[in-house]
Amino acid sequence: MAYEITGKCNGCGKCEFTCSMDAIRRSWGSYRIDPDLCDSCGACTSVCPVRAIRPD
Ligand code: SF4
Ligand code: SF4
Repeated sequence: MAYEITGKCNGCGKCEFTCSMDAIRRSWGSYRIDPDLCDSCGACTSVCPVRAIRPD
């Protein structure tokens, strides 16, 4: 299992720097999580102001 970023993402970028696995990357003005790198620690969910990150 990995986490995913939904369409609610506003592109603020806060989550990118919380990920110790470097799994969150900017993509076309939004962000996405690489499921092969994400270890499902959940750290990114606590910094997202719009709750756009959820378990996939
Ligand atoms: S759940 Fe953890 S490993 Fe996965 S993207 Fe979020 S911070 Fe990175
Ligand atoms: S913290 Fe939330 S709103 Fe900001 S870039 Fe990450 S997923 Fe998008």
